[in-house]
Amino acid sequence: MTCLKPEGKEPGATGARGRDFNAFDEMAPRAPLATPAAKRNGAAVKSADVRPSGIYRPNNNVQTPAMRSPDYVQMSTAAAITLGIMAGKMYGCECTRCLNLLLTYPEGCRANCAYCGLARHREAERDYADRNFIRVDWPAVPMAGIIAKVAADGDRTPFHRMCISMITHPNSDADAVTVLKAWTDRIDPKTVPVSILSNPTTMTRDDVVTMKELGADIFTVAIDAATPELFDRTRGKGVQSPHSWAHYWKILNAARDIFGPEKFGAHLIVGMGETEHDVLGVVQQLRDMGGHSHMFCFFPEKGSLMDHLPATPRDQWRRVQLARYLIDYCGARIDHMRFDENGRVVDFGLPKSELDTIIGTGMAFRTSGCPGKFRDDLSACDRPYGDSPPSNIASYPFQPGKADMRKIRRQLGQSKSKH
Ligand code: SF4
Repeated sequence: MTCLKPEGKEPGATGARGRDFNAFDEMAPRAPLATPAAKRNGAAVKSADVRPSGIYRPNNNVQTPAMRSPDYVQMSTAAAITLGIMAGKMYGCECTRCLNLLLTYPEGCRANCAYCGLARHREAERDYADRNFIRVDWPAVPMAGIIAKVAADGDRTPFHRMCISMITHPNSDADAVTVLKAWTDRIDPKTVPVSILSNPTTMTRDDVVTMKELGADIFTVAIDAATPELFDRTRGKGVQSPHSWAHYWKILNAARDIFGPEKFGAHLIVGMGETEHDVLGVVQQLRDMGGHSHMFCFFPEKGSLMDHLPATPRDQWRRVQLARYLIDYCGARIDHMRFDENGRVVDFGLPKSELDTIIGTGMAFRTSGCPGKFRDDLSACDRPYGDSPPSNIASYPFQPGKADMRKIRRQLGQSKSKH
């Protein structure tokens, strides 16, 4: 078996109080402040009432227009570059394979998740469409134009998948359905399958059925926080936010029943205060249910209630990334792994040669998410630099090269010893 002994740190690898993991008691969000009435609920954008015209680029020193789904959606910077509506280059990648679309409203998301750049408390300082989310800007684009462009590209489209990201808003359920229907009316789901990144708080089981009937391929739930306590602290009462752990799992169980094996999944963020054993327990649970976990490395998003906290140390992240890949795609189980008194993985439960071969493929360290057309264990949703800067990559949006692999192995602290 392979023994793990951390051997020195990469730059930026140190967690809270210099430890090599982010512990619960050191990762508390700051409390949200009250928002002035003139800024609440998108009031500034609604009172200015500027009509949108074409593409809106965030933070462009103009009044934010009043844009609303389903007519308008926001898309990731990577998707905008790939679609050719924004100039730019991404380190190590030519394009993204997933067209990530985010519902948008002047009122924004009404939840207040502590790690999220879209959270409600930010209405005091930034209009919704100008907020950074997973480290990047999200330009707003007319939905009809996106569909027309992807439909015109046909089989030549660079996208292997489209994803509708819902937010917590009273219109989000109905608008997600409208966007999905508009897409599947024009674009064959076999050419570009659709994923739903759901917002369980406003959804019922019937809504999940509707998504399936309208042609959605995969249904995902962003659980994000790996334990009920952490969920409540970062997404529930702890930050005056409406989400409930029990309801998120209710909708996830509905997705398992309605979408079936390999067609549902859950997002998890690593390093917000859970132990490695905690998060891998959820990974195993999801796999036993027939689904997959999609992992994000905690990054202190600017403007969020956790922007003063350290990013996940790379050794913690690499251990969880590797263990998750082993559980999801290599038949490994958490009960065959060993953990130390702080819940850290110390043994992956596989013979060294087998583990070395799997590490050497680099697949475990690539961005995880809904699959594209290349292989089942390779995510279409590559989210370039959504959870780290390119200078210290957490999730690789490209195949790691030799130098990347040397760095990954150092971060894993692999020892050559056997026992
Ligand atoms: S519900 Fe989603 S978009 Fe809204 S604050 Fe929470 S994580 Fe962000």
